[in-house]
Amino acid sequence: MTSAPYTPPAGLVGKLKRRLTRLQARKALDCAQDRFLVSFSFDDFPQSAAHTGAAILERYGWRGTYYTSTGFKNTDNHLGSLFSTDDIGMLVGKGHEIGCHTENHIDCALNAPVVIEREVRRNQKRLRALGAPLPRSFAYPYGETTPQAKALLGQHYDTLRGVQTGINRRFADAHQLSAVPIEGTETQSDLALSYVENLKSAPGWLIFYTHDVRDTPGEWGCTPELFETICKAVKAAGFEVLPVGSAFAALTAMEKAA
Ligand SMILES: [Zn+2]
Repeated sequence: MTSAPYTPPAGLVGKLKRRLTRLQARKALDCAQDRFLVSFSFDDFPQSAAHTGAAILERYGWRGTYYTSTGFKNTDNHLGSLFSTDDIGMLVGKGHEIGCHTENHIDCALNAPVVIEREVRRNQKRLRALGAPLPRSFAYPYGETTPQAKALLGQHYDTLRGVQTGINRRFADAHQLSAVPIEGTETQSDLALSYVENLKSAPGWLIFYTHDVRDTPGEWGCTPELFETICKAVKAAGFEVLPVGSAFAALTAMEKAA
C-alpha cells in the first residue's frame, strides 16, 4: 500500500510567498523571438512516461525532457512503477533529455540551501552513473521554491521549471519557467488545448508537463489518448517541438545574434 502523496502547505501566507518568489532572483529570458516553441516534459518519472509517453512523442519525430529524482529508481508510488536502471540509458540513446528534479524529490521551499545543494549534486552523480549527460535543466518538485533556492539552483542549471500555469513570452524567468499540465482523460483536454490555441496568437515557449501516461492515470498523470490529442493539436498548429535544453539553447543563440 502506498501512503498519501505529500502536498505543499496551502493557505494565504504560502500564496503570498509564492507570488513574491516569482518576482525575485529572476533570470531574464526573451521567449518571444519569432518562434513558436513547445516542450513536453515528464516529472519524477514513471516507467509509463518512459515507454508509452516516449513512444507517442517519437511517432511525431519529437523528444521529451524527463525530470528525474534518482531516489525513485525501481520504486512504486501513486504514479505506478517508477523508472528502472535501464530506462535512463534507453531514453538517452533515443535522444531524450534527462533533467534534474533533486535526488529525493524534496520541497525546495522548506529545505536549507546546504540540503538542496547536496540533493542536486548527489542526483547529478547518480544520473551520470546511469548513463546520462550532466543535466542542464531542472524542475522544482511540487513547483515549490524561494528566491534563495532560485539563485542557488540557477548556478547549476540553465533553466528551472515551475508549475505556474502559462506560456513563457517576452519577459520570461529562466529561474522559474511557467508550464502547463496535461492531466486526466480525454474529456479533460480543454486546459492544455486552450494553451495550444493561445500560442498561435504570438511567439512564445509552451512547456507541457505530466507524470504517468496510463489508461488509469493517477491524479497528476494522463491517459495515452489525452497525450495523443495534445500532440495532434501541436502538430496541426505547426509548432516546433524541442526538449527543454534544446529550446533554451535556441532562444539564447537568437538573443546573442540579435
Ligand atoms: Zn515531481
